[in-house]
Amino acid sequence: MHTMIPGIQSLALPNDQDASGRSFGPEEREALDQVLASGTLTSTKGTFVTRLEKDFARRIGAKHAFACASGSAAIHVAIAALDLEPGDEVVTTPITDMGALSPILYQAAIPVFADVDPLTCNVTAGTIAAALSERTRAIIVTHLFGNPCEMEAIVALAQERGIPLIEDCAQAYGTTYARRHVGTFGTIGCFSLQQGKHITCGEGGIVVTDDDQVARRMYLFINKAWGYGDANPDHYFLALNYRLSELQGAVAYAQLQKLDRNVAVRRERAAELTERLRLVPGIGTPIVPAPGVHTYWKYAIRIDDKVYPGGPPAFAKLLRDSNVTSAPRYIQKPSFMCEVFQKRRTFGKSEFPFSIARPEAVDYRIERFPGTIEGLAHVLVLPINERYTQEHVRYVADAIASTAQELAVQGG
Ligand SMILES: *Cc1c(COP(=O)(O)O)cnc(C)c1O
Repeated sequence: MHTMIPGIQSLALPNDQDASGRSFGPEEREALDQVLASGTLTSTKGTFVTRLEKDFARRIGAKHAFACASGSAAIHVAIAALDLEPGDEVVTTPITDMGALSPILYQAAIPVFADVDPLTCNVTAGTIAAALSERTRAIIVTHLFGNPCEMEAIVALAQERGIPLIEDCAQAYGTTYARRHVGTFGTIGCFSLQQGKHITCGEGGIVVTDDDQVARRMYLFINKAWGYGDANPDHYFLALNYRLSELQGAVAYAQLQKLDRNVAVRRERAAELTERLRLVPGIGTPIVPAPGVHTYWKYAIRIDDKVYPGGPPAFAKLLRDSNVTSAPRYIQKPSFMCEVFQKRRTFGKSEFPFSIARPEAVDYRIERFPGTIEGLAHVLVLPINERYTQEHVRYVADAIASTAQELAVQGG
């Protein structure tokens, strides 16, 4: 059977889970040394987290930025800042990280899923509109893989209905739409600094907003709602400690200085890969909305299962023999098919907050989401990062071409 690409030496690809695929260097080490030498590891007294926040806000073009413990925490902070009532509905996407969904339930709100465009796996104004109800109090859009959603129509819809928009930009650093950074279209933008994202400090997150009141509530939610610096500080409402430490802030700040370069390399490598895959039949390369810039957290292709029997899983299995690790379907199932939703495993046996939802809002049957079914059935997610060279791209493209040939022969 197929073991290696004929005539090509197997090549180890840079991996974002270790140093081979990450961009750590003396800058991060130097910043960490400074923090340790200062003896101040908490951001309430240190300087790195504050510098990270200021610099991030400036770069993205937002008035406020706050660092927090994770991308999941960032989503939680955003939802909490909107101060929803129990049972309020939040329209979101079924193709995302669970960390973007569990915070909705923790705030006693109801995740209502919009379907996606099967070609991009992103929600659209049309799919969001179909999921709105009288109870909708927020919309979350995820710019999946670093590819922007069609923001013009989505912003217009949110404004027309007067519903706050949250952008999950965990995978979309540097992504723009009509030359504007994603994360600044809605009321709040959320980012993740987890190991596998464009920039990282292991775990961490950032929220951004232009709204002063929302900013105040987000700051408080990260800080146990304690009014630091107020005349009569108190714990004003229910909140957690979601702070980032100075050690994480130091690494994140150094990483942020490398973001533009990392994004540029990812885009360059992705363009080369697209060029090389153009001629492979039955493979769809990323479709980017016209005024958008995709920054390739991952490089997702579509596999035509009429051309390649077995579709993405069969394709991935053969690719693996060439040492290219890909993810067929991206996530194994739409998030609402996980037990937390299907079995309503939340707080004891209460099934809260599902128990107080409109029945149609929590109708999590897969047949209601044809775009999601089709999108996941055809997507194959290829790794990419800023340590990829032209040689790596050529290797991946050759592996795909050779896999395509072999599978097509089996099918024909
Ligand atoms: C990674 C990710 C999250 C969660 O971030 P963590 O830092 O892992 O908590 C949320 N949403 C999306 C789209 C993600 O990719």
